[in-house]
Amino acid sequence: MFRSKPPTTHARRACAVAAFLAVAGVLLPSRLHKALLEVTPPICHVATRQKVVALTYDDGPQPVYTPELLRILRRYRVKATFFMIGARMARWPEIVKEAARDGHVIANHTYSHPNNLASMRTYRIVHEINAEQRLIVRLVGRAYPIFRPPKGLVGRHLDHIAHAEGYSVVLWSVSAYHHEARTPELMMRRVIDQAHPGAIILMHDGRYQMRWRDVRATPLIIEALSKRGYRFVTIPELLEIGGSM
Ligand SMILES: [Zn+2]
Repeated sequence: MFRSKPPTTHARRACAVAAFLAVAGVLLPSRLHKALLEVTPPICHVATRQKVVALTYDDGPQPVYTPELLRILRRYRVKATFFMIGARMARWPEIVKEAARDGHVIANHTYSHPNNLASMRTYRIVHEINAEQRLIVRLVGRAYPIFRPPKGLVGRHLDHIAHAEGYSVVLWSVSAYHHEARTPELMMRRVIDQAHPGAIILMHDGRYQMRWRDVRATPLIIEALSKRGYRFVTIPELLEIGGSM
């Protein structure tokens, strides 16, 4: 099941082994070679017939928007997953603790949110992920082995490292914001049009002033999806429903 401590660090060695196997591949039976190099693909949704979706918020905490969002979620008794940035958590730790006390999941979105994470060197990627995981444990007592890279940028290198470190990479299947959905009402409409059982919905609560839209869109989305029979779960709950963890 879920670990409460950050996964141990063996990524550099694991990558060295993977690199060796890639070179030595011609000498290995191809099936064995493939199995040894296999990496779990990023999770964008889970396969289920249950009408469940997971609301996720990236890039917080933010001193105004996150507490406002927590008030809204409390009002509707909805639990969400916050992929927070470590440096911001260190700055506003009380907001992080408040979110965790309310039953929301605080999840790993790296320590400093580098835009080019996937092209960084292995030891820096490992540091970004594991420093964040340690901070989550320190502030809220437990951290799930799930990770969302900044901007959702993945690649073989990053996938291998996440896999070697014991994390599942979690992306999304529905993004509330789009250049054609710039108002809370249009964001809600977009989510309703694209929602499906097992969907992971991407929203934001930090980094940019424009995130007030996500805050305002939240009650609209909750009400509209509830009316259509959906209930809201956290990412760990969704992964359990989908049998991914
Ligand atoms: Zn982000």
